Amino acid sequence: MKIGKKKYYGFLIDADNTLFDFDRAEQEAFLSVFRNVHYSGSLDKAYRQFSFINKNLWKLFEKKKISIKAIRKERFVILLKSLKIKEDPDKLALLFIEELSVKPYLFPHAKEVLEYLSGRALLCLITNGIASVQRGRLAGAGIEKFFQSIIISEEIGYSKPDPAFFKKATADMHLPQFTILCVGDSPSSDIEGGNLAGFDTCWYMHVARMYPPNRLKPDYIISDLNGLKEFAPEIY
Ligand SMILES: [Mg+2]
Repeated sequence: MKIGKKKYYGFLIDADNTLFDFDRAEQEAFLSVFRNVHYSGSLDKAYRQFSFINKNLWKLFEKKKISIKAIRKERFVILLKSLKIKEDPDKLALLFIEELSVKPYLFPHAKEVLEYLSGRALLCLITNGIASVQRGRLAGAGIEKFFQSIIISEEIGYSKPDPAFFKKATADMHLPQFTILCVGDSPSSDIEGGNLAGFDTCWYMHVARMYPPNRLKPDYIISDLNGLKEFAPEIY
């Protein structure tokens, strides 16, 4: 852990579960899709299973073992099979994406912190999400204007934690690497990825939890986005 308040002139900021309350959007999108499915079991249980499947597929994506296109469908194929439901996974996959892209729920203070930081430093959004979903929610939340650059893995062909993804961010920022802080909730893609790419890192703990002991440690930990303000330079 670093001591004191180093100032940064650039911030790489993750989207899902850092700025956006992804868990809430995912749950609502899933429930609105699944309500029309012929299924007599617990919707809540089905959602928890879906969320577990989804998280594991995104972990495989970070390891380059599955494509985004495959994730969209596969999460429903696996769920339908396990719940023994006969439904078209392609239809559910499409509906889910549509629902997700219109749920731009920001975490508390997200917008105000982006406004504050963007008046003092350059901001770059870094996300592995699905392009249409991320673009839809960025527009819906009205936060695009705060970013110098928006990097979505599906649009550039590289994803976090691949160093090539972070290289694109450095190129877009035109700042020395040591003046940029990488912020996100994911120990593997944001913290370890950012660290290996040469950035100082800040772990946003959106829910109270332990940092996994097998991952490279962040330089800072915050549990409220307001904590980012102290890393921004003063305005003279
Ligand atoms: Mg995230």
